[in-house]
Amino acid sequence: MKSYDPSSVEPKWQKKWEEAATYEVDLKSAKKPYFTHVMFPYPSGDKLHVGHWYNYAPADSYARWKKMQGFDVFSPLGFDAFGLPAENYAIKTGVHPSKSIAENVETMTKQLKRIGCMYDWSKTLNTSTPEYYHWTQWLFLEMLKNDLAYRKKGNVNFCPSCQTVLANEQVWEGRCERCDTEVVQKPLTQWYFRITKYAQKLLDGLKNLDWPEKTKLMQENWIGRKEGVFITSRLKDIDYEFEVWDSVPQTFRAQTFTVIAPEHPDLPRIVKGLPEEKEVLAFAEKIKKKKMAKRFNPDEDMEGVFTGRLVDNPFGTGDLPLWVASYVVAEYGSGIVHCSAHDERDFAFAKKYGIPLRPVMFPADPKETEKVRNLEYCYAKEPEAIMEQPEEFKGRKWGEVREDIITYMEKKKWGRKAVNYRLRDWSIGRQRYWGALIPVVYDPEGKAHAIPEKHLPWLLPTDVEFKPTGTAPMAESRELKERTEKIFGKGWTPEVDTMDTFVCSSFYSYRYLAEGNQEEFVPKPIEKKWMPVQMYIGGAEHACMHLIYARFVGMALKDFGFVSHGEQYQQLIHQGVITNKGAKMSKSKGNVVSPDSFIERYGSDVFRMYLMFMGPFTEGGDWSDSGIKGIDRFVNRVHEFFTSEANVKNPSPSPNPSPITSLLHKTIKKVTEDIESLHLNTAISALMMFLNAVEKEGSLSSDAAIIFVKLLAPLAPHLAEELWERVGQKGFVIESSWPTYDPKKIISESFTLVVQVNGKLRANIEVPTDISKEEAIAKAKEQENVKKYLEGKSPKKEVYVEGKLVSLVV
Ligand SMILES: [Zn+2]
Repeated sequence: MKSYDPSSVEPKWQKKWEEAATYEVDLKSAKKPYFTHVMFPYPSGDKLHVGHWYNYAPADSYARWKKMQGFDVFSPLGFDAFGLPAENYAIKTGVHPSKSIAENVETMTKQLKRIGCMYDWSKTLNTSTPEYYHWTQWLFLEMLKNDLAYRKKGNVNFCPSCQTVLANEQVWEGRCERCDTEVVQKPLTQWYFRITKYAQKLLDGLKNLDWPEKTKLMQENWIGRKEGVFITSRLKDIDYEFEVWDSVPQTFRAQTFTVIAPEHPDLPRIVKGLPEEKEVLAFAEKIKKKKMAKRFNPDEDMEGVFTGRLVDNPFGTGDLPLWVASYVVAEYGSGIVHCSAHDERDFAFAKKYGIPLRPVMFPADPKETEKVRNLEYCYAKEPEAIMEQPEEFKGRKWGEVREDIITYMEKKKWGRKAVNYRLRDWSIGRQRYWGALIPVVYDPEGKAHAIPEKHLPWLLPTDVEFKPTGTAPMAESRELKERTEKIFGKGWTPEVDTMDTFVCSSFYSYRYLAEGNQEEFVPKPIEKKWMPVQMYIGGAEHACMHLIYARFVGMALKDFGFVSHGEQYQQLIHQGVITNKGAKMSKSKGNVVSPDSFIERYGSDVFRMYLMFMGPFTEGGDWSDSGIKGIDRFVNRVHEFFTSEANVKNPSPSPNPSPITSLLHKTIKKVTEDIESLHLNTAISALMMFLNAVEKEGSLSSDAAIIFVKLLAPLAPHLAEELWERVGQKGFVIESSWPTYDPKKIISESFTLVVQVNGKLRANIEVPTDISKEEAIAKAKEQENVKKYLEGKSPKKEVYVEGKLVSLVV
């Protein structure tokens, strides 16, 4: 018979917490604010899956630990409720998204409450409610007012399956990030947010963020700052001037031709009246279609045609023939590029069409120089290359002349030094129903006007067919049309696109602090006091989507004067990925762990502790059905020991340091440090070791028992409350203070750990006697001399012989 019955204990404490409003925070009066939350979930009809738990439960343990340290912890949870899944569900079943979402939110809230997280449910939010999307639309109006929103015709990414436009951030290797369908280019008039205006600020701000380096690097690359030169050029026989971007200006003397993108809007004008006109335009059409129809591989599908125009070369090295080339991207720079022998793609293109090439830098080896001169291969971007032209740079190395060349070109007035970014403006219009309508109307002449703020929220009409057709379903709504005419006048029409749901999630942290206030976006003193979010936890896949949009929107709101903290997330943590027997969990493989049956059997505390025990939080771990039994045994042993009156006795009579006292203080130290660094797995190990020791001892002082229960509280919150009551304490353990350790009471003991790689001795390390297996192996792998022999590989086999050695086999 098991001692611990989670099915009665867990609901009991969940009810008590709720009745006492234990986790509700008074944002105004709080003295030591600590704001932390996870990336809010999408309320889908499915049950909470193990991925949700793996994000939320450890994040909650960390928040609980902060609360016990005396912080006023505010940990809210809301729902990112607009978007395609509800709409697709509506198309399939006919159930209106507002209804299915409301049901899903209710179900999910119930499930979330079973985890027993310390969420402040009084401040929850749902992005699909008019109360919330009022502010999504308000944000749009502010963007418009401040020239950060605009409408433009151009080629956009279009997902044929989702039937909507996507932002560049939502296209992953040519595919839709949501459904993996190949994305096509479509010319459309769309609304954009001018995120590019913040490119440098977004880049600079990264330095001050306590985020994973990898995520910061991804944003840096996404922003893609490049220094180079804008060269002003002219076409011959026609009044056409343009700027060409060159990020590798060192070899400008090698330029022998120019290429223009097939999508370039000026192409028809450039070839008008030329004998080549027909052929060029037909070619451009063909390539555009090709790019639209399938994934276009610029290297394989390299094609081109001469336009009949020449570029008046400013450098005096001869005219440059202008070609239309399939591989030029219209969006990058100006869509026109000067080409040289020192670029792989240009080289291949010139070879294919017999365009002359002129190398201007060469290898030191004369034999190789001969080959480069004979155009046997493309010689590009070699720092050691020796320049031959221009004359002023003869003999110098390519890798060292960049800055001087730029100055030289500026002096000659050929170009101007400039910075270019890879980041593009954020296309925010979506041709779908279930989102926040863009608050714009058009007058009879088709001119756009902002909807005055007093008409917000600009409600979603309900008389709409959901079937996506590539045009916005909202265009069919009679109610929306009539509403627009009634307010603005006859012949006025509404904007029918909704906003990208990433707009909704770009500011929600501020809105948690507004507590549903509809008078202002967020009360400034509250925002000043609580922002930024000090610990934000969620998936790494958001690095260049949500996390970049939220930074931009926060910065903009700060510049508009509505908030004082533009960076919303000071510290960011990505949870690791959990696998099932080494394989990624996926619906198609049928190996997704469903939490419900485990919670039914073991309770929430055991389930969450097992997830934490699998490995360091940020690294993830491997699930095993039997592994959870070990945690279950531990929880039952804890319950049994601490609820048996014979075991927990009044203060220990001896004031002298005993081995148990020493272990207790070591355990406090260890658990504190481990939770701080989110190594929740080793924190649990430390508690297990302590239990082993006291079971051997057979009894424990009540003071020590109280401390143990406190240490357990962040990790197993229900069990800890139950034991707190059993050891005679009043109130909640979560409202007690975190114990501190006394270094003087720790009897330090250590031993020499031997580390072997492939059977050979590679290191000796002094380690504490109570080191766990995980720590011993981790410590061993950290040693320089061990790293050397692992050669960056992870060992095939890792053995720990307690108190002696670690043996690694690669
Ligand atoms: Zn899609």
